[in-house]
Amino acid sequence: MVNFYFVIYKKEKALNSNMKYTFITITNFKKLIAILVLSVLAIIFCISAPIVYSQTKVYTYSIVIDAGHGGIDGGSEGFNGTKESEINLEYAKTLEQYFKDFGFKTIMTRSNENGLYSPFASNKKKDDMLKRKQIIENSSPDLVVSIHMNSFTLSSSRGAQVFYNKDNENSKLLADQIQKQFVLNLTKARKTSQSADYYILNCTSVPSVIVECGFISNQEEETLLNTSQYREKVCYSILCGVVSYLM
Ligand SMILES: [Zn+2]
Repeated sequence: MVNFYFVIYKKEKALNSNMKYTFITITNFKKLIAILVLSVLAIIFCISAPIVYSQTKVYTYSIVIDAGHGGIDGGSEGFNGTKESEINLEYAKTLEQYFKDFGFKTIMTRSNENGLYSPFASNKKKDDMLKRKQIIENSSPDLVVSIHMNSFTLSSSRGAQVFYNKDNENSKLLADQIQKQFVLNLTKARKTSQSADYYILNCTSVPSVIVECGFISNQEEETLLNTSQYREKVCYSILCGVVSYLM
């Protein structure tokens, strides 16, 4: 009869510092074959067993994109007649597409030229702003980007700039990241973001920024802002800034 010896495991080092081993002695050849066959079957079972995936929900960032003004509130008027509410919407739609392509859930406060106010509201501007607040509250987004075009009596003023609520630390961080992208990608961007006291920045605690994409009161910048190439550059910068903020 053949004896097979296997070292199964090494025991703790004994006090006398001699290593102790445990041996299994299999004195039956058939028993050995049976063990080998069972081991192979166990391996095959493990490999072929259905893999159960844990159902992990993938988190999707959501963003409210707010095209400023609309309806009876046209916003500022450009040097050559650009209507702010209209160009804001164009930028908001491009931005929406960029964020969707990037896997974000997007919520638009408005998708057409109409304002959000009720036709029966006595104070339409106030009603419009309240509706925007409700949209933000109801969608609980990760952040809000409100799109505007700047305007100033001094026609030489120009440059994209991001505004934040100084009492909201995340709002400032978000604004800084977007401004940084503007400085990198646009030749005439303002160097820093700036705090401001606007309703859309203060109405919720959600990190929110107002992006003034440029001055339509500056003739050269107004022309640039109306080109698809520049619009894409601005929106791409906003996307990059948001992604940097979230990372
Ligand atoms: Zn505006």
